[in-house]
Amino acid sequence: MIGIVASTGGVESGMVLTASVASIVPCTEAEGPGKRFALWFQGCPLRCQGCCNPEYLPFRPGHDRRLDEIVGEIESSREYAGIEGITLLGGEPFAHAEAAAHLAEVAQARGLSVMVFTGFELEALQARIDPATAALLRCTDILVDGPYLRDRPDSHRRWIGSTNQRIHHLSDRYRADDPCWLKPNTLEIRVRGGEILVNGFPSAGAVGLWKGWTRKP
Ligand code: SF4
Repeated sequence: MIGIVASTGGVESGMVLTASVASIVPCTEAEGPGKRFALWFQGCPLRCQGCCNPEYLPFRPGHDRRLDEIVGEIESSREYAGIEGITLLGGEPFAHAEAAAHLAEVAQARGLSVMVFTGFELEALQARIDPATAALLRCTDILVDGPYLRDRPDSHRRWIGSTNQRIHHLSDRYRADDPCWLKPNTLEIRVRGGEILVNGFPSAGAVGLWKGWTRKP
């Protein structure tokens, strides 16, 4: 599994667990129900045409973050921002299943919900003989599955990119008729240092528009 340096799916004394992380937003209201800590992994084996995050696809060095530090950031977001859960996105969370499962387990142990976006279909994940994949599924409340298909944009379901993608409620924490699904999609724009960070769900015609932005002197 690329993207995690040392993990057994659990914690062995003396091991430093890390994950390959592209980006973190400590508190967002644009990546699932309520306020959430969102983490994008660096690295995805899939190549959906029109992927929103092509820069997150390569498995490349230089993105490793210690999981204990990320857990500290989640706890801080819980304390100071009142998040109700975490959202794991990609990159592809199931290509980083050991790290993702660890974060999901920690989040649920602290009463937080877990939402995961994956380009794989649930049945394919369930067929994997991989303890980390099973652990991540076990700790996921909402799974959005399937590849993003640019020619099948979804304009009706909140947080969903294309009409082929399915929403699985893997626990009874949320329901398909929760009011949270009925609000319009939102996009958040942050300026952090010299960077413009955009997250959330743009309309199909606006995907990636901001990626050509450059700072003018
Ligand atoms: S699974 Fe997600 S990150 Fe990977 S190529 Fe598809 S849309 Fe992009």
